[in-house]
Amino acid sequence: MPTTTLLAGPELHVDLDALGANARTFRQRSRGLVAVVKADAFGHGDVAQHLLAHGADWLGTTSLDEAVALRQRTGARTLAWLASPAADFDPAVAAGVDVAVPSLAHLRAVVAAARATGERARVHLHVDLGIARDGAPREAWRELVTFAGGLARMGVVEPVGVMGHLSHAAHPDDPRNRTERMLFDNAVRTAERRGFVPQVRHVAATASALRGVGTEYELVRVGAGLYGIDPAGGDALAPVIGLAAPAVVVRDVAAGTGVGYDHAWVADRRTRLATMPVGYADGIPRVASGRAEVLVRGRRARVVGAVSMDQVVVDVGDAGVEPGEPITLVGTEPGAPTLGEWAGWSGTIAHDIVTHLGSRWRRSFTGGAACA
Ligand SMILES: *Cc1c(COP(=O)(O)O)cnc(C)c1O
Repeated sequence: MPTTTLLAGPELHVDLDALGANARTFRQRSRGLVAVVKADAFGHGDVAQHLLAHGADWLGTTSLDEAVALRQRTGARTLAWLASPAADFDPAVAAGVDVAVPSLAHLRAVVAAARATGERARVHLHVDLGIARDGAPREAWRELVTFAGGLARMGVVEPVGVMGHLSHAAHPDDPRNRTERMLFDNAVRTAERRGFVPQVRHVAATASALRGVGTEYELVRVGAGLYGIDPAGGDALAPVIGLAAPAVVVRDVAAGTGVGYDHAWVADRRTRLATMPVGYADGIPRVASGRAEVLVRGRRARVVGAVSMDQVVVDVGDAGVEPGEPITLVGTEPGAPTLGEWAGWSGTIAHDIVTHLGSRWRRSFTGGAACA
């Protein structure tokens, strides 16, 4: 029997070498890389410094608070693109954080912060290209760039960027990718004519950057891909995350044994069950009950019964698994389930899985010795 390290609890492993390799992949395919580290780096934790050491030129996130903390910790150029106009922009402007501005209300808030702090606000005007979320609607663009251009001339705001976001990037052949980029070029020209001349333009996220869409602009904003996720399903990226949990209880059961709440699964033969101390509170989707698989001693085993809040039960067949032995939920060893498979079993995307893993996984990092 191979000697295995026993586990004390659930482990979330981040492979910093893979993360660094993915960052370099995007840096090589672009003119400048904004590493998107929103939502605690898609659940991976404190990896911003490592990304900066491996080719990221900027950091990007949604909230102002995250951006201020990142900028103070790393000193890197940091862009925040989703704030309420009622938020306090003073700390961000004082820290030199770049802020996306999608409306006149946001512009007013940013100007108030510039006046309060005595700093010029670093602004990226954000135009909606057809995704109808957080960018300025096209009919509001002319007015927005006119005011922003005036403020730029007065030295209140520094015109840093114009940004947009493509609606169908995960489908490279969709004609909207082309029309949305034409809209973007028009929006930039309108801004320039009104005195808002950007230093950087950016529209591409992971799927587009990988396929050379929008990489002619000065920056690309990449999140998922850094963490090994390609929304368009390619395999050019290295998997970064690994998940393992110990078997805490192992039991042999007779045919006819019901497992878990409501006996959602009943053993159809004599078999062995292993219980792991992770459940939907740890981001194991309940909807994957009865579908998901794990790797036990090199073989696939099925999750049986309903995923509970803190535990799942696995039908390990005749595997001689011992209490404390690790069971792989996501890994890179032969046969191990991938994040993509978990997304499929759960009817969602890999992003949704990694951002819900919660605080009970013990996080560990390997590789990346250069900046340990
Ligand atoms: C999340 C986000 C990104 C990164 O997208 P990925 O597909 O994860 O690379 C880029 N830009 C904006 C505006 C985002 O919200």
